[in-house]
Formats: sequence, C-alpha cells, structure tokens
Amino acid sequence: MRIAVYSAQPYDEQFLDEANAEQGHRLHFLACPLNRDTLAMLPAKADAVCVFVNDHLDAPLIKALAERGVRAIALRCAGYDNVDVPAANALGVRVVRVPAYSPESVAEHALALLMALLRHIPRAHARVRDGNFSLQGLLGEELHGKTVGLVGTGRIGTALARILVGCGCKVVATDPEPVAACIGLGVQYVSLNALLRAADIVSLHCPLNANTRHLVNAQTLAAMRPGVVVINTSRGAVVDTVALIEALKRGHVSAAGLDVYEGEAPLFFADRSGVVLQDEVFARLQGLPNVIVTAHQAFFTRQAMAEISQVTLANLTRIEGGEPCQNALC
Ligand code: NAD
Repeated sequence: MRIAVYSAQPYDEQFLDEANAEQGHRLHFLACPLNRDTLAMLPAKADAVCVFVNDHLDAPLIKALAERGVRAIALRCAGYDNVDVPAANALGVRVVRVPAYSPESVAEHALALLMALLRHIPRAHARVRDGNFSLQGLLGEELHGKTVGLVGTGRIGTALARILVGCGCKVVATDPEPVAACIGLGVQYVSLNALLRAADIVSLHCPLNANTRHLVNAQTLAAMRPGVVVINTSRGAVVDTVALIEALKRGHVSAAGLDVYEGEAPLFFADRSGVVLQDEVFARLQGLPNVIVTAHQAFFTRQAMAEISQVTLANLTRIEGGEPCQNALC
C-alpha cells in the first residue's frame, strides 16, 4: 500500500521503517498533522493514511480523503476518539488501530508520575543540582497502604492494578465491565461515587467518550477526599482542567500528574521552547509546584514503539489482502 504517515516524528520514521522491512509498503512521511489544510500534501494515489492522537478526522475530512482514493485510516494508537468511525464506515473507509500494545508502558508511566509527586522528585533533583541539600519541604508520602481508585480497568488499568497490589496498595475500581484478572488481584469494584469517597489517589484509565468527557469536574472533585492525588494518562478531556486547577489552588487536590491535557493538540509533540505560550490555562497548570505534566509520552517506550509500528503496518497488510482484521473498528 501507499501510506501517507501524518504527524510523523523522526522516531516514527525509525520504528515504522524497521517494521516495514517485513511488510513492504510504500511509506510517505509528513511531519504535519492531518487536517483540511494539509490534505493538499497527500501524495497522489495514497491508499491509506496513518495518523496519531491529535489528528482529528471528522466526517468532512474523511469524505475528502475517500474522494482522493484513500480506503483505510490506520491509527498508530489505542484511543480512537479523534476519528469519526461511523462516518468512515458509511463511506466504506476502513479504520484500524493498535488496541493492545504494551499496556505496561502507560501503567509504569502513571506510577512514575505518582511516585515523583509523592516524593517531590522534580524539586529534589532541581535542589541538588543547585547545591541545595536541604530536605525542608520535601516530606514525602508512602504509597504503601494507600487506597488507589482506578477509573477503567482495561489493559492499562489492569497492568497498573498488578503493580499497585505489589506496592501494598488497596485498589478499588470502577468499570462498566469488571475484569476477572483484577478481581483475582483483590481489586474491589465500586461505583464512581464510592471510589471518589474512598481513594487517596485517583488514576484515570478509561477511554474518552461522551460519558467520560470531563468525568473529573468541579462536582466529582468535590466528592474526592481532601488531599487526593489525581493522575491522568488517559485523554486530556476526561479532566476539566479549569476545575482541577481550582481544586489544586484550594489544596483539596494535593497534587496532579498529567500526561495528557485537553488543549494539547497545538502544544504537544513539538519543541515550542522559543515561542510565547498563548494557552493561559496550561500556563497556570505549569506554574503549580504540585503538578507534573509530561507531553503525552506514557506510550513512548522502545518496546511499545516497536509493537505499535509492527501492528499498524500488519493491520494495513491484512486490509490490502482482504483478510479479516481483528483491530478494525469498521
Ligand atoms: P481498554 O479499552 O483496554 O480499557 C478501557 C476500560 O475503560 C474498559 O475496561 C472500559 O470498560 C472502561 N470504561 C469505559 N467507560 C468507562 C467509564 N465511564 N468509567 C470507567 N471505566 C470505563 O483501553 P486501555 O488500553 O486500557 O487504554 C485506556 C485509555 O488510555 C485509552 O482509551 C487511551 O485514551 C489512553 N491511552 C493513553 C496513552 C498515553 O500515551 N498517555 C497510551 C495508550 C492509551
């Protein structure tokens, strides 16, 4: 297949080229995101586009792709909230994704954010580099013995539950589809309200959809325990960021670790260090000492990148060969 790879970073090129040695597709890498403006850069006779989390493919854009002969959209990620799948289905454009790459990559990043917050690692590191060896203000909290509430126990939530049980945490969870592996670990399934009341730490692992958009809002934040720590490695819009900032300012939320941000599309995955930040909400968030933001890097491990690239191209090989593809959304 001739595949236009949008939002392609140098590391995407490296891993996709490596995976393509076995698949033999023709890859055209484009650093820009896919949108109405960049549609013009679609190479002639492209059979498929390969896109990432911040390429928003609405119905008009998918229609324009179909009119240019594109018959498949390959998401090189698990979440698919950014693609209008019913619109693609109606146009006969197949949509494939990578549902199951190393869930440990994201689970371990959630843990890294949590541990860094509980033990003030960024401040401690900055201090020591500055020759300041004082411990004042660095009093930590132990993870052992804490109650952690997982919102969503799919692949990533289950991987994190496994780690947290090993760390001596009590794990409670809410999920419309409880998972036997979690029950086997001793995870207690409760309602969202009960989870919010019980958890010292709330970690989000649900997809973004109409039910979960702003699931963490002023009301649900108020229902959480005073001093709660919030971790979000799912999708930015699961959290109402303004409400979170208010709760952090009041001290009701003691700390937040965020790998995703609802306004991340114009910011993340590029070096903007020389540009004046225009997003006031993000600027406020960044200015809080008890917040750690990483720029959607939870998936970004060598193991996960190799798997994502291999599965993405294998999905398209199956579509090309007319074979059934278990990773197809339509
Ligand atoms: P998954 O599909 O295996 O699990 C999602 C779980 O959420 C399911 O068990 C589902 O039943 C549950 N769920 C759905 N609605 C819910 C609700 N309202 N409340 C509670 N639970 C609900 O997905 P996964 O592989 O575990 O990934 C979870 C999410 O993590 C993805 O949808 C994606 O948005 C995000 N993600 C982020 C990164 C990153 O780099 N930060 C990487 C991969 C995935």
